[in-house]
Amino acid sequence: MSLLRCRGLRKTFGGHVVLDGLDLAIDEHRVVALIGASGSGKSTLLRCVNLLEELDDGTIELDGQDISDPRVDPDRVRRRIGMVFQAYNLFPHLSVLDNVTLAPVRVHRRPRAEAEAQARELLDRVGLGAKANAYPDRLSGGQQQRVAIVRALANSPRLMLLDEVTSALDPELVGEVLALVRELKADGMTMVLATHEMGFAREVADQVCFLDGGRVVESGPPERVLGDPTEPRTRQFLRRII
Ligand code: ADP
Ligand code: MG
Repeated sequence: MSLLRCRGLRKTFGGHVVLDGLDLAIDEHRVVALIGASGSGKSTLLRCVNLLEELDDGTIELDGQDISDPRVDPDRVRRRIGMVFQAYNLFPHLSVLDNVTLAPVRVHRRPRAEAEAQARELLDRVGLGAKANAYPDRLSGGQQQRVAIVRALANSPRLMLLDEVTSALDPELVGEVLALVRELKADGMTMVLATHEMGFAREVADQVCFLDGGRVVESGPPERVLGDPTEPRTRQFLRRII
């Protein structure tokens, strides 16, 4: 059974159709990379999965539960999903440790000591243990993005959604963030990531999905979709960006 299954997703903004009957499924422990031109709906899709956007039509199942049912409490769903955005979105007035423990303590009502112990362990794991008491503005962009990933992991999510997590970084800082994503994959984390980094998609993804016209036009193993695409639109897109 797929961990996440999207069926017939439709999302419009005003009269503008962004997702047009999109289907996507991902099994547990797998990594799916979403590629496609700017404006093709990658972020909208991830935001729909995290229930940050209301669907016009379609269903989303997480672990067999229809989370697109309006009776479902979005907060309970988001507890099972970790989302990381392009700009790291850390709270500037909170220390690294408080950024990571905020949701577990405030939203999930976990005892502070327990949440802090887990946060320190996660920070240690990503080499940021010494930065626990620092404020975000004292960290590099790459360090901030790693904290944002740790913050998303603090809820022990079933699924991670990563939206262009390296696009706001200086080139020399991209590597450390990609290394962390690679580690998450090695740990078996299920991830859907939108990316412009084709080299990384090829390396880390089990499946690459090319979005165009509000649908997944082509999907499959990275070597095939990126190396030998069958769809003319995929070919055209890849030719343009390389
Ligand atoms: P991508 O992440 O692939 O670049 P997006 O999902 O951000 O694409 O955007 C897809 C389309 O939806 C774009 O045309 C964008 O302008 C539009 N869009 C996204 N969010 C909104 C919004 N909140 N209001 C209106 N239009 C939006
Ligand atoms: Mg986007």
